[in-house]
Amino acid sequence: MNNDQSDQATERLYFQDAYLQEFSARVTGRESREGSPVVVLDRTAFYPESGGQPHDLGWLNEVRVIRVEEEDGRILHFLEKDLTGDEVRGRLDWPRRFDHMQQHTGQHILSQAFYEIIKGETLSFHLGQEESTVEIGIPTIKDETLQRVEELANRIVFSDLEVKTYFLPEEELKTIPLRKPPKKSGLVRVVEVSGFDYSACGGTHCRRTGEVGLIKILKQDKIRGNLRFSFVCGFRALREFENRRRYLQSAAVLFSAEESEVAACVEKNLAELKNLKKKQKKLEERLSFFEAREMLAQSQGGIISGLYPDKSPEEVKFLALNLVHQAEVMAVLAAYRNEHFHLVVAVSDGLKVDVREVIPVLQAEMQLKGGGSPTLIELVSPEKDKAARAIELVLEFLKARSGRA
Ligand SMILES: [Zn+2]
Repeated sequence: MNNDQSDQATERLYFQDAYLQEFSARVTGRESREGSPVVVLDRTAFYPESGGQPHDLGWLNEVRVIRVEEEDGRILHFLEKDLTGDEVRGRLDWPRRFDHMQQHTGQHILSQAFYEIIKGETLSFHLGQEESTVEIGIPTIKDETLQRVEELANRIVFSDLEVKTYFLPEEELKTIPLRKPPKKSGLVRVVEVSGFDYSACGGTHCRRTGEVGLIKILKQDKIRGNLRFSFVCGFRALREFENRRRYLQSAAVLFSAEESEVAACVEKNLAELKNLKKKQKKLEERLSFFEAREMLAQSQGGIISGLYPDKSPEEVKFLALNLVHQAEVMAVLAAYRNEHFHLVVAVSDGLKVDVREVIPVLQAEMQLKGGGSPTLIELVSPEKDKAARAIELVLEFLKARSGRA
């Protein structure tokens, strides 16, 4: 091949026919980029990543096309491996491309619907793997207004209008109501949703609005003071509907309720749960009073210690407080939570020991945080396996302080 040819712009077959799935072409340039072989063809139906629309995938002969980019009018086909021969047969991953056409055409319709209903201008568009987004230059929107936008967009779909594409010289653009001024000069490609929307666009679109299928807005979020709407069209909308139906149905089965009753069931259950937690807390407080009494009856007084894998840090704290309130004792109790251990050290008021002084002793051997008053400290350590050692150290400290060593 010669260099003159490789410098030529690639003829874009998708401009004339976005439905072309197979084509033949000649290799006019070869190179290697980022470890991938790259070929340039004299003509191609492969769409390169641009204008918010992702690139196509497919095959050149039997070699997979993994990425498509545009550079100075040439379209670069990134390949999975080397391609032999100069005459190639190209084939698109058509389900992927048609999906892009549905989302992209749906975006034109939705953007114009936002403009018609609230003069909301489209500032950006992104066609994502799961959802697409349009950023609209408005700070807020009422639910009912958004519903009107969605309804208008879908009315355009159901009207099955023709989607035309044509080139116009820059100076003739005044004759049509373009939604946005073009980014390119010279000959501008116009995509017209018959009488409804006029856009300057180089992407691939459906022939008729009916092919777009349902246009459904899923959510909105704030970005740069504007609103960004996520939406799905066509088969994606169908899959989205099916997924949501399945989620809702499985929740309804759990509650043995109708799908329409699920939210009310969740609300009722949450209220019950809150109530039960309150009751449980009260019972735990009562229980720890009796548990402390029993422990004191079985001990010789002095220091009471224990490691409780089944208790929560809160329960252990209650127990320690009950112990030191019911008798003149010291309590060293630990519990686990996830990968941490919680340690509570409490002493009765009359014992004149400042338990905070044990903290640096523990910190010399393990990572540990926390604090408290002279009679009660609560500590947490991420070194779960050192809980027993921590108790041992506190016991040594307390025995030395209280003269029992
Ligand atoms: Zn477009």
